Amino acid sequence: MNIIEQNLQRVRQQIRMIAQDCGIDFQQISLLAVSKNKSVTAINLAIAAGQQAFGENYVQEGMEKIRWFRERPQGNGLVWHFIGPLQSNKSRLVSEHFDWCHTLNGTKLARRLNEQRPMSLAPLNVLIQINISGEDSKSGIHSDQLPLLAAIVAECPRLRLRGLMSIPAPEKDFHRQLAVFTRLAGLFEQLKRAYPSADTLSLGMTNDMMAAIASGSTLVRIGTAIFGARDYVLHTSELF
Ligand SMILES: *Cc1c(COP(=O)(O)O)cnc(C)c1O
Repeated sequence: MNIIEQNLQRVRQQIRMIAQDCGIDFQQISLLAVSKNKSVTAINLAIAAGQQAFGENYVQEGMEKIRWFRERPQGNGLVWHFIGPLQSNKSRLVSEHFDWCHTLNGTKLARRLNEQRPMSLAPLNVLIQINISGEDSKSGIHSDQLPLLAAIVAECPRLRLRGLMSIPAPEKDFHRQLAVFTRLAGLFEQLKRAYPSADTLSLGMTNDMMAAIASGSTLVRIGTAIFGARDYVLHTSELF
């Protein structure tokens, strides 16, 4: 068994155990493998171990991987999530290539993604990104802007409002992680009541997965625990 397969099995087992401890059905929690900065070789190993959902942070890198896998049999059935910061001028590439966008943070971006989503594809699944720690304003909207943005997304026929995503400020203490995630879970419950299509709360990374699941996350975004530490000097030419 290769290391990526071992890691994936361990993470899946952890998700199962945490869910069980919290009285949550583990099948309600999806595992998104964050493959940013990782080569197609690493992704192939994850696919061979049964992983089908992948998260990418950089538009160009993600798009090139999506194209590469689209031409190959193992690419069949893969689901690609864009999880990085998105500027309006790159929205077309996300609309045309990805299945999900986790980082919707404004009405202008929503309208562009909607207009640019090809009719040949299913509507783009979108998550509204919430800036819960109130720091860098670019990392999501303030929660008081949520009702307006959700209403606009719901009126976009080429978008499907699936829920919320957030990346809280890094915090080592479990109880503090839990406190922030619980506020997000409260917002998600309100959103679900207004919009039945909202079924996804994207919270939790390698270092805060346990608190995220305990608070009601339905999708954890895991990179390091699956693929190992990221090599930031990897160039695009080295992805293939
Ligand atoms: C990199 C990244 C992850 C994965 O983080 P790990 O700590 O490696 O698990 C998850 N979500 C987002 C938005 C990321 O940028």
